[in-house]
Amino acid sequence: MQKTNVDPAELEKFAALASRWWDPNSEFKPLHDINPLRVNHIDTVATLAGKRVLDVGCGGGILAEAMASRGADVTGIDLVDKALVVARLHLLESGQRVNYRHETIEAVADTEAGAFDIVTCMEMLEHVPDPSATVRACAKAARPGGWVFFSTLNRNPKSYLFAVIGAEYILKLLPKGTHDYAKFIRPSELMGFCRDAGLEPDALIGMTYNPFTKRYSLGSDASVNYTLSARKPT
Ligand code: SAH
Repeated sequence: MQKTNVDPAELEKFAALASRWWDPNSEFKPLHDINPLRVNHIDTVATLAGKRVLDVGCGGGILAEAMASRGADVTGIDLVDKALVVARLHLLESGQRVNYRHETIEAVADTEAGAFDIVTCMEMLEHVPDPSATVRACAKAARPGGWVFFSTLNRNPKSYLFAVIGAEYILKLLPKGTHDYAKFIRPSELMGFCRDAGLEPDALIGMTYNPFTKRYSLGSDASVNYTLSARKPT
């Protein structure tokens, strides 16, 4: 039996927000704002055109669609039905093609081990009970020589101040309770999960938000939001 690695309370939170996925001024504004930067990063590192991509915890499809628009053959998985309904509806508007499925990454890793050139798992690890198990399943779904991309929140006093107090209480970018500080993951921990899963960690890139210009940028400051790419050895 597969041990479940799902937090129903987390899924509830995302179900309640589902209708707002594509509103660029909604709770999902940070994801819209950061999307072009992260898609460029993935495309630069792993080249999206023509690749089979699995987007884990795809939500309403913000990242999945953007990767499809770069020519990737994208499958998006999530466990919130309402998000998948919104994601499928949005394809009618955008004209993109993404295959959305209600499935766990653990199940996909079992049935389609090694099937994906690129696996992306962005802003999702901090919402599951056992992120190391998710990393292992992502690694299993990637083909040898393939790439896996994670992004999440670092755990330190600054990330608590920015991602919880700042984003939820002061700037009100996110609803209160969106993020549980205890579930934030230090880059060293995520790199450890990757190595334990047989992945070779590659680039650690910080994603910073400037509250004055209201702009995100990629750089070396990984103290709050960051993305880690990892390679599955051939
Ligand atoms: N990856 C998307 C959405 C991030 S929000 C993006 O970056 O744009 C986090 C998403 O993870 C939500 O859609 C939520 O429903 C999903 N999620 C949370 N726990 C999950 C689990 N155990 N399995 C699959 N998806 C999960």
